[in-house]
Amino acid sequence: MNPVFRLLLPLVPLLTLFSRATAQSVPPRSAPLIESVETVPAASQWLQPGDRLQVRLKGRPGSRVTFLNGQPLTELPATAKGVRGVYQGTYVVRPGDTLQDRTLQFQLVTSDSSRATAHTLSRIRFLNPNEPQLAVTRGALAYLNYGLGEDRLGGAKLGYLDSLVVLHVTGKVGDQYRVRLAEGQQAWVPLEVVRLLPRGGFVPTSLTSSWSVSGDSLYDYVQVPLDMRLPYRSQLLTEPTRLVVDIFGATSNTNWITQRDGLRELGDVHYEQIQPDVFRMVLNLKHEQSWGYSIGYRRNTLVVRVKRPPARLRLKGLTVAVDAGHGGDNHGAVGASGVKEKDLTLAIALKLRRELEEQGARVLMTRETDVSVDNGRRVLLLRKLNPDLLVSIHVNSSGSASVQGTSTYYRYVAFRPLSVALYEQMRQTGLKGFGNVGSFNFGLNGPTEFPNALVETAFVSNSEDEKRLADPAFQQQMAERITRGLADFLKGTRAKGPKGWLLGRPAEQ
Ligand SMILES: [Zn+2]
Repeated sequence: MNPVFRLLLPLVPLLTLFSRATAQSVPPRSAPLIESVETVPAASQWLQPGDRLQVRLKGRPGSRVTFLNGQPLTELPATAKGVRGVYQGTYVVRPGDTLQDRTLQFQLVTSDSSRATAHTLSRIRFLNPNEPQLAVTRGALAYLNYGLGEDRLGGAKLGYLDSLVVLHVTGKVGDQYRVRLAEGQQAWVPLEVVRLLPRGGFVPTSLTSSWSVSGDSLYDYVQVPLDMRLPYRSQLLTEPTRLVVDIFGATSNTNWITQRDGLRELGDVHYEQIQPDVFRMVLNLKHEQSWGYSIGYRRNTLVVRVKRPPARLRLKGLTVAVDAGHGGDNHGAVGASGVKEKDLTLAIALKLRRELEEQGARVLMTRETDVSVDNGRRVLLLRKLNPDLLVSIHVNSSGSASVQGTSTYYRYVAFRPLSVALYEQMRQTGLKGFGNVGSFNFGLNGPTEFPNALVETAFVSNSEDEKRLADPAFQQQMAERITRGLADFLKGTRAKGPKGWLLGRPAEQ
């Protein structure tokens, strides 16, 4: 047992006595009968039959409390700290229930028949499933979330969607709509990336036509004609390297898949109807290292565009994007000496650009000066510039001054080799190793179009790391190591080559 805990044990009976005394004290008569009411979560909601509406009220203990039309709340036992008068209730929405975006009214009747009413701040609406609510995505950066979670990186993202994708909205909590993707599958979408459609539409579904796989001078393509733009999800997997795309609401009427000439990266392709309304495409890739892909619609045809490896797997002639984190009024982390992340990332990125250009690479920068560019704009810019690779440069920070070291991050497992190669080289600077981090929900790890990695060079919150970060000679060393990391990644990719037996062009030199 923890010695500190043991030391505290003799105090426990005393504390218990104290809390019991508190528990028995009754609030003074002047206290309002109802102190607070809220929905749980405390946000405006749209619910449909089968959903739970949860509420909480704090008020005079020992009362009778109801909401909606007489639905009772239950008083909880006193907490360990002796708090009483907390009531909770759940109502499962039933077919036929109606509630038009209203606040909820609560009634409290005390044991001596005093009465009080109160309303929630949040508004509740019950949806009518007989009038499906539809929405379409808008803008170039619409995306789905898995759930309602939030942290400094936002909610965990399920993936980006093209614009005008039709979604079936089945609920809302705060600033996100819940959408039904397929039987038993749902996701959440921020209000600002969709537009609600007028009533009277049908739940989005489509049969898939027969589809084709083809290649032009730049890319390989998969094209699946649908009746409307349905939502989708993709995963780039390894061992073997393959792209798995699920189309929600789609049912197969695919009676053939034409594989045209000119394919250089797509190998065997097939589909599975994994449930009645989820159509899964499995697209095998010819090379062990994927160089990315994009998914979007051309009219109502879903188009998967698959990138091929660069002509030569070496820095000379390669297009590398370098992203200096933060900038302008976005300072990022600030060290004890006052040094700002935005200045450090730019200094390292500019040195990295020089190194890469010396090796014959073409370098694209998301910023070259001290300007503010938000991450959404950076992603859009990179999509347009279409680099072969992306390295994002940041500086780490921790609440604990003793935490230090370098780390690299990737989101998709297929891009992990890049972040590992960068990590190995960054360790050669003498910085401690903080680790290689996967599934990282960071905007600049989001693009699927090209391999990308984030380098959190070192911790500006640690005095030893901070000194190094601010030292131009050490910045130069980091730039050289990142360059070598990129070269190592290319070398490793060259060694792997194409998957042996598959048809395709000969191995790179
Ligand atoms: Zn940062």
